[in-house]
Amino acid sequence: MIRRRPLLELLFPPACASCRTLLDRSDILSGRALCPSCQREWESEKLETCPSCAKPVTACRCITEDMEKCKCEALCKLVYYIHGKREPLQNRLIYSIKQERRRRTVEFLASELAESARDLLSEQGIATQDAVLTYIPRATAARLQYGTDQARELARALSRELSIPMLPLLERRPGMSRPQKHLNSEERLKNAKKTYRVRDFDGCRRKTVLLVDDIVTSGATVAICARLLRRAGAYHVFALAVAADELQSERGR
Ligand SMILES: [Zn+2]
Ligand SMILES: [Zn+2]
Repeated sequence: MIRRRPLLELLFPPACASCRTLLDRSDILSGRALCPSCQREWESEKLETCPSCAKPVTACRCITEDMEKCKCEALCKLVYYIHGKREPLQNRLIYSIKQERRRRTVEFLASELAESARDLLSEQGIATQDAVLTYIPRATAARLQYGTDQARELARALSRELSIPMLPLLERRPGMSRPQKHLNSEERLKNAKKTYRVRDFDGCRRKTVLLVDDIVTSGATVAICARLLRRAGAYHVFALAVAADELQSERGR
């Protein structure tokens, strides 16, 4: 994909999204968001193997039991998200799109996710014209606080990469919802059910929906959103995330 802003970026070199050293000319031109040393670390994290299917994480499609119940057929992810490990690379990348609106990082992650999405669609024999992209909307308070919705930005960038339309198919129901992170698995599913609804039924009818999120932890939100989209008429729902919790993959198939 042709990137438009290299001149400006050559004059004002952006910093590595992880360690903050300034990127050099070849990194900038290649569209990387990471310096060569962080890029190597990233490449090796992508080769970690899935505990259930033994494939490298980028080739793994494993889903959680909840996703299976809700007919989300695959989950593509680039790396495992490691809780408690102090500032590993993937946490810094997620932080940089979640709280700092770093466009270059979003574009970089989207171009990597686009590869997985292309592979997935061809494995499934699905034409790109039968697919739409959508995302799991961020809570309004967080969107206002950080001025961005990282899943929407990822979906937009993916839409440009893949030439697949991005439609906001889901929305949050009005009113407060509890944050997922302090709930157990049953409560998470119930909470997710109360939080989201479909806003565009025509947009998902007879489509393959690529559902984008930044991190998938328990998978409950993705599962519930997949169920909503399937009930609204989507033929298939596949989830795409930058990072997924490794523990959840163990519980998958
Ligand atoms: Zn770096
Ligand atoms: Zn797997």
